[in-house]
Amino acid sequence: MSARILIVDDTPSSVKMLAAKLTNEYYEVLTADAGRAALKAVEEDAPDLVLLDVMMPGIDGFDVCQQIKQNPRTTHIPVVMITALGGREDRVRGLEAGADDFLTKPVDDTTLFARVRSLVRLKRMLDQWHLREETSERLGFRTDTVDVIDGGTGAHIILVDDSTVQKSNIQEILGADSHRITVIDDYDASGKIVDIGGDVIVISLSTDSDAPLRLASRLRSLEPTRQVPILLIGDTEDMDYFIKALELGVNDYLVRPIDEHELIARVRTQVRRKRYQDRLQANLMQHLSMALTDSLTGLHNRRYLTTHLESVMGRMPEQDKPVSLLMIDIDHFKKVNDTYGHAAGDEVLFEVGQRILRNIRGFDLAVRYGGEEFVVEMPDTPVEVALGVADRLCETMANEPVRISGSKDKISVTLSIGVAESRDGGETADELLKRADEALYEAKRAGRNRVIPTPPKTARDAPEARPG
Ligand code: GH3
Ligand code: MG
Ligand code: MG
Repeated sequence: MSARILIVDDTPSSVKMLAAKLTNEYYEVLTADAGRAALKAVEEDAPDLVLLDVMMPGIDGFDVCQQIKQNPRTTHIPVVMITALGGREDRVRGLEAGADDFLTKPVDDTTLFARVRSLVRLKRMLDQWHLREETSERLGFRTDTVDVIDGGTGAHIILVDDSTVQKSNIQEILGADSHRITVIDDYDASGKIVDIGGDVIVISLSTDSDAPLRLASRLRSLEPTRQVPILLIGDTEDMDYFIKALELGVNDYLVRPIDEHELIARVRTQVRRKRYQDRLQANLMQHLSMALTDSLTGLHNRRYLTTHLESVMGRMPEQDKPVSLLMIDIDHFKKVNDTYGHAAGDEVLFEVGQRILRNIRGFDLAVRYGGEEFVVEMPDTPVEVALGVADRLCETMANEPVRISGSKDKISVTLSIGVAESRDGGETADELLKRADEALYEAKRAGRNRVIPTPPKTARDAPEARPG
C-alpha cells in the first residue's frame, strides 16, 4: 500500500537516510526541516503519516504534534515521533502530545516499516469515513465537528491476562486513570469479549504460546470487534511477535517492565481513536436516517416511499399480489395554523402521524408525503381491506379532537383519503400515486372528511402494452 509520508527533521543527514529507506519501499516522501514548515506541509499536502523529530530549533516536535492533533482537519493523520534520546520521559511526553508512537534513533528498519504499514492502514480507514462525511455534507447535512480534545480517560477496558500479579498491577494503573476494567484470563474467550463490548482490548503476552496472537486475529475477524483497538503488552524478546501482531491489525504494543505513565498514555491514545471513529460513524448513521425519515413526524419520507414502492411494484408481475395506497390530506389545515399557530399545527401533524401508525400493520409503510399530506403503502392488500383502514382512520380523527400541549384547547381535525390499488404491475409507481391523488381530490370535492376509492387499473385497461 503506497502512501505519502512527511519526514520532519532539522538534520539533513537524518532526513536523507529515512527518505532513502522509505523511497526504497515505494513510499512517496515529503520533507520539512522545521516545525513551521512541517505544519504548513501537513495542511497543504495531506500526508498519510508524519515522522517527526523531537529536537528542533523553534517549534519543537512536541508542539508540532500537539498542533496537528488539535486541528480537526488534521487530527486523524498519524504521527510517529523520533528521538535520539530514547528516555521514557520523552516518550510519555510525546504520547501525551497525541503521538501515535515513538521510535528511537538509529531507527530499526523492521520496526519502522511495521509501524508505518499499520498506521497507514488506520489512516486509510479514517479516510473512508471522512469521504462518507464529505458526501453527507454535499447532500446538505451539517456535520458536527468531532471533538478532538478528548482526554481519553473513563473508558471500558478489557484486559486479557492470566498472570495474577501483573493483572492486578495493570488493573490498578488503569483504574487510577478512571477506566473501568473487565479482566478475562482465558485467551480463547473471543465470544465473551464480543459480548462485553469494551472500548479498548489490552492483551498481555504470557507464556510463549500463540494463543494471544490467535485471539487478536480472531477479534479482528469478528464484526463487533473489528474496529476495537487492541494493545499488546510483552517483553523485549517479543519484538518479532509484536511485528507480526501489527501486520495482523493490532494497534499498539508496550514493552515490559510496564511504565505506568506510558501504559496510561498509550491506552488513552487508543481510547481517543475509538471515540473519534465512533463519533464519525454515529454522525453518518444519523445522516442516513435523516435522509430517509421526516424529522417532525418520525415517519419515512417521500424519497424513501418512491424507492420502496418502485421495488414493490417491480416484483408484482411475478407475485400476483395487490398493493394499495392511501393518499391522506388534512382538511382545512391552513385554518389550524391560522387559528392556533404554527407550533400547534406541528403538533397536529405529529399526532396524525401517530394515529396513522396505530391503525396500520407492521409491514405497511407510513410516509409523510408533503406538508400535511401522508401516504400509507399497503403491500399484499386488496382495495377492500385498504378502504376499511382508511374509514377507521377518518373516524378516529373526526371523533377524537387533538389535544395541544400547554393549552386546554382541543383541535378538531378531519381527513380526506383517496384509495387506489394496483394488481399486476400494469402501471408505474408514479401512476399509482397519481390515481390515489385523483381519488383524494374527489374526496375533497365531495365535501371532505371522507374516503373515496378509484377502481383498480390493470394491465388490461392500458391502451397498449407497456414496452419493457
Ligand atoms: P384542504 O382541505 O383543501 O386540504 O385545505 P388545507 O388548508 O389543508 O390545504 P392547503 O394546501 O391550502 O394548506 C396546507 C397548509 O399546511 C399550508 C401550510 O402552511 C401548512 N403546512 C405545511 N407544512 C407544514 C408544517 O410542517 N407545519 C405546519 N404547522 N404547517 C404546515
Ligand atoms: Mg389539506
Ligand atoms: Mg395539501
